[in-house]
Amino acid sequence: MDFALTQKASEICRQAEDFVNSHLVDLEKAVLAEGWEAIQPRLAEVREKARQTGLFTPHMSKGHGGGGLTLLEQAHLSEVLGQNLLGHVAFNFAAPDVGNMELLHAFGSPEQQERFLKPLAAGKIRSTFLMTEPEHAGSNPVWMSTKAELQGDEWVLNGHKWFATAADGADFCVIMAITDPEEENRYARASMFVFPTDVEGLKLVRNVSVMGHEGSGWMSHGELTLENVRVPKDSLLGPRRGGFKLAQTRLGPGRIHHATRWVGVCKRALRMMCERSAQRELSPGKPLAQQQTIQEWIAESRAEIEAARLMVLQAAWKIEQHGEFREDVSLIKFFVAGVLQRVLDRAIQVHGALGMTDDTPLAFWYSHERGSRIYDGPDEVHKYVVARSVLGEYGVKVKR
Ligand SMILES: Cc1cc2nc3c(=O)[nH]c(=O)nc-3n(C[C@H](O)[C@H](O)[C@H](O)COP(=O)(O)OP(=O)(O)OC[C@H]3O[C@@H](n4cnc5c(N)ncnc54)[C@H](O)[C@@H]3O)c2cc1C
Repeated sequence: MDFALTQKASEICRQAEDFVNSHLVDLEKAVLAEGWEAIQPRLAEVREKARQTGLFTPHMSKGHGGGGLTLLEQAHLSEVLGQNLLGHVAFNFAAPDVGNMELLHAFGSPEQQERFLKPLAAGKIRSTFLMTEPEHAGSNPVWMSTKAELQGDEWVLNGHKWFATAADGADFCVIMAITDPEEENRYARASMFVFPTDVEGLKLVRNVSVMGHEGSGWMSHGELTLENVRVPKDSLLGPRRGGFKLAQTRLGPGRIHHATRWVGVCKRALRMMCERSAQRELSPGKPLAQQQTIQEWIAESRAEIEAARLMVLQAAWKIEQHGEFREDVSLIKFFVAGVLQRVLDRAIQVHGALGMTDDTPLAFWYSHERGSRIYDGPDEVHKYVVARSVLGEYGVKVKR
């Protein structure tokens, strides 16, 4: 195994660090103090500057207007960008756009790529991904009610979705719907579609209030209804009955992107924990860092972050080398999400009341990233995947 930093990757990291320090430090303070809407003009300027680094949209090939980085290079970059709240958004490297770009790249027709992928990769439009439904357990993605019926030259969609990240203001959606309910193989009942969000019958009912915040734009999770939404036949993305397969393809690398970002968040939180405990005095001349409990948190965090980081890099390397990912991706999904929660919790504790404020990004990450143990599959589902694989070696057939 070799997933060490190549010369190119270290140059990418250095460039990204310089960028974050020069352009994103103040903007992060601004978003926490003034809110998401208020910083949009400044964010647009910063994204324009990020475009000029050659690292904008790093995961797409140069032919598709991206930075053309390998998955391992993306992992190193993501770790740096993850240390700032706006790093991934600034580089057009944030969910759900990243996953939608990867889907369109792998399965989109030339027309779909021209119409949706090209402007998305250029950072000119935004997208959303509609799979989860309030009425059904999202952990079992083959079970859903949204239906698409082929009537002549059009698909007609009816259904109800929620938790569609960034649906508010998105220009197009990628959506999963049942097209073949009678199909015996339940993994072949759904298909995926891509179409603009301004089609008649598609309604954003609300931005779901999450942990006290409705959010807006990128920082929102929409509930949507589809009532007799009519879209052309060629809105099908990939093959009919291929929805589940496409979803798996989307979520594999997507979980690597999340996990590498979480490692970045953890590194920043640990740095903040160390700085604060070195500076904050319990009494004159007695910094918090002298307390053994704090030292233990720092040591545990350091060990967990290092383990998480190597695990993620190893998974990225394996995908690059062998294209396999199911078990490794499940491993990192629940393990790194757990490390993230623990490190953020310790960092907030070390900061005391300050940790609860929006004067630092810790509270934002703490509430926002509670979802990391749920989105893209809850911990329990990923543990099941790992246990099934491990126990399979002992002749045990673990049932879902
Ligand atoms: C911040 C955030 C962003 C999201 N973004 C999107 C998006 O952009 N698009 C989209 O379509 N969806 C999105 N989702 C939805 C997400 O994918 C679902 O929440 C997830 O798949 C879980 O589905 P559920 O919420 O219906 O939970 P359920 O399926 O109802 O599960 C509830 C709980 O049951 C437990 N559980 C489930 N299965 C098992 C099992 N096999 N064994 C033991 N326990 C189990 C777990 O603890 C789980 O948390 C997002 C969610 C969050 C929180």
